[in-house]
Formats: sequence, structure tokens, C-alpha cells
Amino acid sequence: MTKQTLAILKPDCVQKQLIGKVIDHLLNAGFRIVAMKMTHLSRESAGEFYAVHKERPFYPDLLDFITESEVVPMILEKENAVADLRETIGATDPAEAEEGTVRKLYAENKQNNIIHASDSEENAKIEIAFFFSQKEIIDNQ
Ligand code: GDP
Repeated sequence: MTKQTLAILKPDCVQKQLIGKVIDHLLNAGFRIVAMKMTHLSRESAGEFYAVHKERPFYPDLLDFITESEVVPMILEKENAVADLRETIGATDPAEAEEGTVRKLYAENKQNNIIHASDSEENAKIEIAFFFSQKEIIDNQ
């Protein structure tokens, strides 16, 4: 089982100046950051990243949102990282998220929900490679 997963602090997190609070929450939940950067996704890159949602009615809005400003992708490490991060961030819709989760605390709605987290071990590997080269990951140099 991989110990790593990918998180992205989304444009709403950056714009509301919540980066520090959310990172603090993740560190307190036991995750270690082993790579992090700030980047502004092009529409093409965003489309590639969210290709699985291409046919969904909200896809154009999702691309508008995720390219609105810069985002902060990071690789988080912990035992059971993928499942634990999903639990730490809470349900997609903050109205349905558990108390104390990142989305319950900070997200506005189902789209503007502060943070992305890989939803499977397989996708974690793909998403990590989407944003980071091996050289950018701590301990891998
Ligand atoms: P996640 O894995 O919890 O992020 O959720 P999904 O993979 O289902 O959706 C990806 C992202 O698309 C979500 O995090 C939201 O930003 C957005 N999204 C999901 N469902 C909806 C929806 O019904 N409407 C809109 N506008 N955005 C959505």
C-alpha cells in the first residue's frame, strides 16, 4: 500500500487566505508534506486532470473554478494516506461533511470545497505524477 496521496488546495482556499489554516489541519492530522508547489493550471491541464468528469454537467463550471487563480498541490505521506486524507477532508458537499473536517470547517458549497484529495491508491499515483517529478519529492533526490 502506498503511503502517499495528492492534495490540492483549490483557488477558493488560496483566495480566502486559508492555506495556512488548512495546512495546519493536515499536519495536526498526522500527514507529512513531502512535496509542495504553487501553480496556476491552464484550462487544458485542468481538463486533463478532471477528464473523468468530462461528461458531467458541472464540468465547464469546474474548469472555470479550478483555473480561477493559483492552486497549491502537495504530496502528503502517512500510513493509509489515501483513505485517511479523504476522511480528514470530509464529503464533497460541505453540507454532508462530518463535523471537524476541512470541508465542513471551510468550504462554501459542493464546487467551492477548498481541497482536492485522491480517491484511490491508483489515482494517487497518477495525480502525484501529474504535478511532481521524482526530483521534487523529499527523500527521492
Ligand atoms: P471529490 O473527489 O470529493 O473532490 O468529488 P468529485 O470527484 O465527485 O468531484 C470533483 C470536484 O468537482 C469536486 O471536488 C467539486 O469541486 C466539483 N463538483 C462535484 N460535484 C459537483 C456538482 O454537483 N456541481 C458542481 N458545480 N461542482 C461539483
